[in-house]
Amino acid sequence: MTVMKSHKIYTLAQFRSGKIVYKSKLREDIPRCGNHPDQNLNVYCNTCEQVICTTCSVLDHAKHSLIGLPVAFEKCKKQIEELVAKVGQSKTELNTTIEKTSISRKKLDIMFSNTKKKISDKADQEVAKTRQEEQKLLTETDRIYQERVTMFDAAQAKNRKEVTQTENKLEEKERDHLGDSFWKKSHRLQKGNHQDLQDHV
Ligand SMILES: [Zn+2]
Ligand SMILES: [Zn+2]
Repeated sequence: MTVMKSHKIYTLAQFRSGKIVYKSKLREDIPRCGNHPDQNLNVYCNTCEQVICTTCSVLDHAKHSLIGLPVAFEKCKKQIEELVAKVGQSKTELNTTIEKTSISRKKLDIMFSNTKKKISDKADQEVAKTRQEEQKLLTETDRIYQERVTMFDAAQAKNRKEVTQTENKLEEKERDHLGDSFWKKSHRLQKGNHQDLQDHV
């Protein structure tokens, strides 16, 4: 039971850090079996994963997989080394994956901005094309409008000229008519005067 009392649990990290010193006390205080205090713990049972004494190995673990302590220690050390190597490999793989993901992410960003630029460029081209088309149509409309305006102006000028000519002709005729009747009237008047004169005489 002295083993259990002095038993302390250390982490692997603590052992690695070198803070835990393997005490020679263990040599003086050799761990003994709990069931057989006169027996040293010198056998490792793989099946039960525990250290046992020779008596226990015969009585309780006869059909189990048993190995000597030095072999068990080497096996355990090897397992730990393998585990550490595996963790290291996993870490490397993880770092590679992180790096690959980062590259993929950068590629995605580049693709994204390229696609956006392509869309905007295409839109700019279309807008420029539409503006060109607009300018062409406006110019054409202006031309047609100016043509029509010229036609209308010419027609109006012609109409006005015809109105003036008609008015002139009318005036001329009225003048002729007036002149004619005036002449006739004055003639009649003259004749009348004549008659008056004759009557007076
Ligand atoms: Zn025992
Ligand atoms: Zn066992």
